[in-house]
Amino acid sequence: MMIVYDLTCAAGHVFEGWFRDSAAFARQSASRRVHCPECGGVEVTRGPQAPNIASGVSRDKAVKAAEARGEMRAVLKALRRTVEDNAQYVGPDFAEEARKIHHGEVGSRPIYGEATADEAKALDEEGIAVTQIPWIEREDA
Ligand SMILES: [Zn+2]
Repeated sequence: MMIVYDLTCAAGHVFEGWFRDSAAFARQSASRRVHCPECGGVEVTRGPQAPNIASGVSRDKAVKAAEARGEMRAVLKALRRTVEDNAQYVGPDFAEEARKIHHGEVGSRPIYGEATADEAKALDEEGIAVTQIPWIEREDA
């Protein structure tokens, strides 16, 4: 699972970054490895919005490859399609649904949706891993 943060670069571009947890974002931004997809800027700050969370779809490999090729945006669009095609959108019920899946109360399946920072932290403390992935706007919707 991943956590999505709304990020803003120094030029004012707003985009979303997916991270394994808040510590991963802190590490990557501190070492200037979080890039704005519009201008490549690395002066990135977290916006005020609650993070989104997604789970169940493997994407680390695709993200690493994208970073290597500098084609982050195109790959992120593909990533979003992959999540939408393979995971069920549960909206603001994400934390509750992730908990049910974790405890076997409902069938295991990939889900994605929104959660507050507190909900994400609570899930993490319960041993339910969450991961962020970048969630860019579709241009072909
Ligand atoms: Zn920018």
